[in-house]
Amino acid sequence: MEIQNLMREIRADALDKMEKRSPQDLAASWSGEDLLYSGKGNAIFIVLPTPGCAWALSGSGGCTMCSYVADSPLDEVDPDLLVDIFKKSLEKHAITEKTVVKIFASGSFLNPDEIPLSSRNEILNLLKDEKYVEEVVVESRPEFVTKNVLQECCDALGDKIFEIGIGLETSNDYTREKKINKGFSRKDFENTVETIKNTELKCDVRAKAYIFVKPILTSEKDAITEAVESAQYAESVGASRISFCPATIHKDTLMEQLWKGGSYQPPWIWSIMEIIKQVRGSLEIPVIMDTAGFGSRRGPYNCKKCNSQLKSMIIQSNLDQSIPEDLECECKNKWKTEIEFCDITRSTTNLVHKK
Ligand code: SF4
Ligand SMILES: [Zn+2]
Repeated sequence: MEIQNLMREIRADALDKMEKRSPQDLAASWSGEDLLYSGKGNAIFIVLPTPGCAWALSGSGGCTMCSYVADSPLDEVDPDLLVDIFKKSLEKHAITEKTVVKIFASGSFLNPDEIPLSSRNEILNLLKDEKYVEEVVVESRPEFVTKNVLQECCDALGDKIFEIGIGLETSNDYTREKKINKGFSRKDFENTVETIKNTELKCDVRAKAYIFVKPILTSEKDAITEAVESAQYAESVGASRISFCPATIHKDTLMEQLWKGGSYQPPWIWSIMEIIKQVRGSLEIPVIMDTAGFGSRRGPYNCKKCNSQLKSMIIQSNLDQSIPEDLECECKNKWKTEIEFCDITRSTTNLVHKK
């Protein structure tokens, strides 16, 4: 496949340039207010160093917008060291109110080649007796979610919500295959959600769908429509929560190359507001909008006057699931023009307005 040939080359170059860092250097953690299934609470985020996303390191080259593999030591991490890193990260944060622990593996937590089985079970087991921890959230590609794996995870974790975030990205198979190079289909996602819903388990396993806003070669208007349709689809096939990831430009990706060449621009924050309005008005399940990179050169952007205010409004609306109120700014007309004319101009970047 052409996209995979291209991605293989880009990934090989990126890996060549990468500076090796130790697992300890790559680990990170932070905490903050978040929305749990039971309401507002605390979230602890823990990034674990792993040998890197198997899909990105395979002959496929991985996804066109993602450089998470750069956050990996690219070597096997000793299973005991991994557990130790997790323990130390967790200890940095007081757990005194209801809490969700979100574990990021820069790939698939459920792939034993990325997180060794013994580490996975020990990490989950450490959370079992934390009485304020209500939810544990991990990420995985669908191929690693099997009945067996779910049973093992629940045995280790006990009676808590175990949420698996799956990078569906879009409900459109063409976009996922040709523009994102994701390597799995809508059907694969549906089968995985079925497995999650239909396996009898000790813990409460739920599926979260990650949806990517504005893949490459997508106009501003289509990005809005596709994001909204994808969320509606994910809910209809059984996802329990949606998390939107608006594009930010990662280093050494195909998306970065197109952006540098003037053929790609991350979405407007106005488009993000439009998506929130439409999904919060039509979906029953919680919908979270990630605001990482908002207002930066490589992220979703309106203008200097309104970026920060809109970002704060979106963060607040994530916590109470409200629809943010309308805001006016002079840049809004440029966004409206782009939405109106992008079908005619076939443009996937911001139009330049000349007098
Ligand atoms: S988006 Fe996920 S599956 Fe794709 S390359 Fe990045 S970590 Fe791997
Ligand atoms: Zn503005």
